[in-house]
Amino acid sequence: MEQKLGDDDREEEWSSSSSSSSRRKVIVVGGSIAGLSCAKALVQPQCQCDVLVLERASALTAAGAGLGLDIHACRALQEWGLASALAAISMPLTVEQNRAIDPQSKSARLLARDEEFNNRSAYWSDVHRILFEALPQGTVEFGQEVVGFEEIDEGRRIRAKVKPSSGDGNEIKEVVGDLFIAADGINSSTRQRLVPSDKRQYCGYCAWRGVFDYSEQAAEEIAAAVRKAYADLGKCLYFDLAPGSHAVLYELPGKRLNWLWYVCQEEPNLKGNSVTLKATDSMVQKMYEEASQTFIPELALLMQSTKFPFVNAIFDRDPLKQIVWGHVVLVGEAAHPTSPHGLRSTNMSIMDAAVLGSCIAECKNIDTALCSYQTSRLPVTTQQVLFSRHLGKLKQGLFSRSFPWMQADKETCLTLLQRNVHLFQF
Ligand SMILES: Cc1cc2nc3c(=O)[nH]c(=O)nc-3n(C[C@H](O)[C@H](O)[C@H](O)COP(=O)(O)OP(=O)(O)OC[C@H]3O[C@@H](n4cnc5c(N)ncnc54)[C@H](O)[C@@H]3O)c2cc1C
Repeated sequence: MEQKLGDDDREEEWSSSSSSSSRRKVIVVGGSIAGLSCAKALVQPQCQCDVLVLERASALTAAGAGLGLDIHACRALQEWGLASALAAISMPLTVEQNRAIDPQSKSARLLARDEEFNNRSAYWSDVHRILFEALPQGTVEFGQEVVGFEEIDEGRRIRAKVKPSSGDGNEIKEVVGDLFIAADGINSSTRQRLVPSDKRQYCGYCAWRGVFDYSEQAAEEIAAAVRKAYADLGKCLYFDLAPGSHAVLYELPGKRLNWLWYVCQEEPNLKGNSVTLKATDSMVQKMYEEASQTFIPELALLMQSTKFPFVNAIFDRDPLKQIVWGHVVLVGEAAHPTSPHGLRSTNMSIMDAAVLGSCIAECKNIDTALCSYQTSRLPVTTQQVLFSRHLGKLKQGLFSRSFPWMQADKETCLTLLQRNVHLFQF
């Protein structure tokens, strides 16, 4: 699967050819969903770009769990020629439902349901893979870490410094492009350099996560019990709200049930930029016990039956006032790290790429194109990040732990729905 870009010859050729040619050279830092989406958008013929993606990881990995793709992200993938690949790796997620759970009686109250949710569910690594496979051979260079960049030619071009991320080779190479796209994630070193005071913020809780594979017969019985309690599994995104915490459940293609459980706790002591905690046996045992006390038995059983659950600490950052500095552009999590409650991260990443692609296709002048990208995306992503933060606080009881969801009025219940992101005032 691994594409090998290159030898030194190719890099030199890529850097030295004339910048006055009508084709633009684009360096993308980071080959996750945002980086590969940008590459896919910009290799479309109307953009007239040559794209080089530099990714620190040594190869594609089958990491991650599930995600929801909204109608706009699906449309962008379809417009990039990925309609059948998308259909093959995803399934419809057409309903969103929020319920309150009473931990004592285990009774549930329907709070809000949206029958026109219109998303698709997919496995993160499948979305990543179809983007990768759709790029021209040699677009992505793995095992390459961008360790610095500088403006040259009065800001018209960017020189990136790149070194192998592992192995013996420590030699730094230089790559020059007309545009430098930072798709280097929530801990973006590009963003850190541009906005040194910016820090990630712990949201006050962590998420237990798991994917239950029921392709084997023994597991099929557990899945059947869960399906009895959650009758619309296969098309519904479920949120179960208990006092001070909430769980998420939906199905993924390939007989897999994806769940998350957000638990309020002190900020864990994480190493470096990591967001993942090692789940020890005693942590897993405690999670099992608390799940039984908090949720309906079928959801607790699902959590208890999942192999290798893991824990992510949840962070976001305050929205920035700009995402373009000359010919340096932030996209995806580097531009707008978000908590997961609005299902925005991957969707915003794909839409950043789609909008950037349209702006570059439409504007001959690159500065005008980048200005147009920033003007289009900033208000939207700011609203989405803040909506997601708000939903997380609401569902975790961080505004009021004792909020009586069991008795909440209709208007309050409707504020839980994803579709209300457009109404969110910030
Ligand atoms: C392995 C993985 C699994 C994930 N699984 C899920 C999931 O199951 N569900 C979900 O909703 N979200 C998941 N996410 C998060 C989600 O994909 C992203 O948050 C979102 O899609 C936006 O991604 P991004 O491309 O902006 O940033 P990220 O996904 O964070 O990727 C940043 C990329 O940049 C690379 N990079 C960073 N610095 C450098 C550098 N200096 N030089 C070269 N490369 C660099 C990193 O190696 C990484 O590949 C996952 C992310 C990763 C990395």
